[in-house]
Amino acid sequence: MAEKRKKKYCFQDVWEEEFFFTTVKEKCVCLICGATVAIAKRHNVERHFDTCHKSYNANYPPGSALQAEKAYYSTLVDSMQCQTSH
Ligand SMILES: [Zn+2]
Repeated sequence: MAEKRKKKYCFQDVWEEEFFFTTVKEKCVCLICGATVAIAKRHNVERHFDTCHKSYNANYPPGSALQAEKAYYSTLVDSMQCQTSH
């Protein structure tokens, strides 16, 4: 009965395709806007995508090359902004 009750949430790779999230230093980071989600729960990630980027999937169907490219570039821009603000 000495099991650890602390639940450990971890990032699922599928979230990257589904909700455009990735992990940076064990944090969930949105590839589209760079926002972070405190707890790596599917619900949180899904909610962020739903609230902030609902039209994204409509404009760029999941799995399309264009969508992946867009996400890639926004990450790039974001990491550059991070560097300059340091
Ligand atoms: Zn976002």
